[in-house]
Amino acid sequence: MVKDANPFTVLVRDLPVHRQFEVSSALVGEWLKGLPMRDALGAPDPDPQAGEGKADLDFYADGTHAFAKGTFKGYLTVACSRCVEPVRLELDEALMVTFMPPGEMPAEDDDGTAAASEEGPEVREEDLDVFPFDGEKIDLEPLFREQFVLSVPYAPLCREDCKGLCPQCGIDRNTATCSCEKPIDPRLAPLKGLKLPS
Ligand SMILES: [Zn+2]
Ligand SMILES: [Zn+2]
Repeated sequence: MVKDANPFTVLVRDLPVHRQFEVSSALVGEWLKGLPMRDALGAPDPDPQAGEGKADLDFYADGTHAFAKGTFKGYLTVACSRCVEPVRLELDEALMVTFMPPGEMPAEDDDGTAAASEEGPEVREEDLDVFPFDGEKIDLEPLFREQFVLSVPYAPLCREDCKGLCPQCGIDRNTATCSCEKPIDPRLAPLKGLKLPS
């Protein structure tokens, strides 16, 4: 109810309807802010390469529920966990989403995690396809946001055999060789560029 400027809303009284939405790189950059594999990139802000999304959805309702069915395609850019170079992750998802009154949302689980009523990356995967709505207006922003946030792997790789950075001198071993003798404790890799006392 706060932002009428939210472009990702569909009025239930307009259903059934077919709608397309585009998510801009500025917004994707905003949503991914604070994720380590995003921040590691040191990308400009706003980053035109942060990502993009396109949703193509059919909406319909059955009286108390609303449904969205279609596709979500796009990409996002995160850092390779070994060499910190950008990795482009493609999104191509089939969406089948149910919007239901908050009172009907699945009960809280043992761990006390609230079902998808809260925005943010804490939503469990099995809740992905169920979102609350007020019966009048469908807000798609949490859904779109999750397409990006939940697509970031724990340790993204630019390629399976990425050689990463030399833990001693920080050189990208995919593109250059250094004369460092032997690798030191890889846990020190993040300290690349730090001059070791000789
Ligand atoms: Zn890499
Ligand atoms: Zn080296």
